[in-house]
Amino acid sequence: VKRYHFENEPDTDFVLQANREWAEKIRNKWQNIGEVGGFNAYPVVSGEIVQRDLHVDVIDKSQYHEKKLAGRYAEATPEDMKKAIATAKKDPDGWRTLTVEQRQKILMDVAHEIRVARADLIGVAAAEVGKVFTETDVEVSEAIDFANFYPYSVAKISGLTGVEATGKGVGLVISPWNFPIAIPVGGIAASLAAGNTVILKPAEDSILCGYRLCQCFWDAGISKNTLQFIPGRGSVVGEHMIPSREIDFTIFTGGEKTAYNIIKSRPDIALSAETGGKDATIVTALADRDQAIKNVIVSAFHNSGQKCSATSLLVLEKELFNDEAFKQTIKEAVESLKTGSVWDFSNRIGTLSNLPSGELKEALSSLDEGEEWLVKPDYADRGNPYMLTPSVRWGTKRNDFCHMNELFGPVLSVMCSENLDDAIDIVNATGYGLTSGIESLDKREQDYWKERIIAGNLYINRVTTGAIVTRQPFGGMRKSAIGSGKKAGGFNYVSQFMNLEYHETNL
Ligand code: GLU
Repeated sequence: VKRYHFENEPDTDFVLQANREWAEKIRNKWQNIGEVGGFNAYPVVSGEIVQRDLHVDVIDKSQYHEKKLAGRYAEATPEDMKKAIATAKKDPDGWRTLTVEQRQKILMDVAHEIRVARADLIGVAAAEVGKVFTETDVEVSEAIDFANFYPYSVAKISGLTGVEATGKGVGLVISPWNFPIAIPVGGIAASLAAGNTVILKPAEDSILCGYRLCQCFWDAGISKNTLQFIPGRGSVVGEHMIPSREIDFTIFTGGEKTAYNIIKSRPDIALSAETGGKDATIVTALADRDQAIKNVIVSAFHNSGQKCSATSLLVLEKELFNDEAFKQTIKEAVESLKTGSVWDFSNRIGTLSNLPSGELKEALSSLDEGEEWLVKPDYADRGNPYMLTPSVRWGTKRNDFCHMNELFGPVLSVMCSENLDDAIDIVNATGYGLTSGIESLDKREQDYWKERIIAGNLYINRVTTGAIVTRQPFGGMRKSAIGSGKKAGGFNYVSQFMNLEYHETNL
């Protein structure tokens, strides 16, 4: 068996003039895509693009006033869903019969297609979900890593055990809108690498992104029978796909309620789910204070806080909490974050992908007793409800609404702790356990925290977002990982989707 090498894909360096000019080209195309009819997406079922009426308009949130079109899509019908499942089961193009190495070669070609499509993927994510260029750029690198890494890990595992890994059958990937490129690519690549056919159902807010990334797979030679595309509403898919007996596993990223429903509907199959987080960064009195603020601001507000990994609780040791100068620096740092159109490159924060609802709406409209706004929520452009600016609640207490609930938006809640023990206890009380950070220059504090904090991804003196494939496999505990949930980007992630027999082991 030929051995391939894996290494992480580098991000674009936007400091370089050539790359800035490249970014301008992306902007010229995608900011005005509506004028040439938009980028359009169709269901892809049983080898065919279903050229149905494009009845759903997608508006570019940065150009909300002008009602500028990012594109349109046609929804899949329940019949499409049924057909797609039957085709996936049948596997007419024999994906499941390929060897591990053959699959790996094709997926490496997919990685290359994603590399070639980097500009379009950045453009479509800006237009459709309001993600700034630098944020999507990192995601594209992660997507390339997934496409290279998962077949690499299948090859390693099957090499170790001495058996060819065979797929479980049909995978259903239900992907979120906040990472509209990397997460669906990861789910698809892992399913395919393990020898399964796969159906992608992207979140309603990221259907154009989903279609563009599927094109990378199709262009690399994966057939439209092997990877099918179902743009549809969650409720319809919930009724017509999730309960299907022909689906052999589901990969889901999103809210925990949906994850529980998926398990209820198919308790007999594997569910790999990455659900919410109520992630915290603890800053002790022994931290580098400026570094702490810098890291917390990125962790809390980049991508408008719409990351499961985002820091949404800042727990300060009493000495820092009572330090007026420190408080003032946090306030000024947050106020300096420029929010607005993704087409203006001076903006660090783009638009929300959808309007505040549920917990976020509630957090924006009320304070618990004793809390105050250190930085009040506002809109960068008064008429545009998607341009929500970062805000900070000060003095959140145990069991307050914002201590216990995931908001998934640009709102940071600051809490006071007596000492490190108290801080750890505050964080562990949320019931979630995805990412967690500590800012402290003291090794003993770091070690003490590491032993006691309950979270899947622990970060010391750095941001809590931006996990890198193989180096920081990503996934949580407790309410953050419902189902079997092996870590994405980790060596054994693919093992959830394949059958391995260990009788001829080389171990
Ligand atoms: N893997 C991403 C990170 O480390 C987060 C993914 C998510 O928000 O779902 O920031």
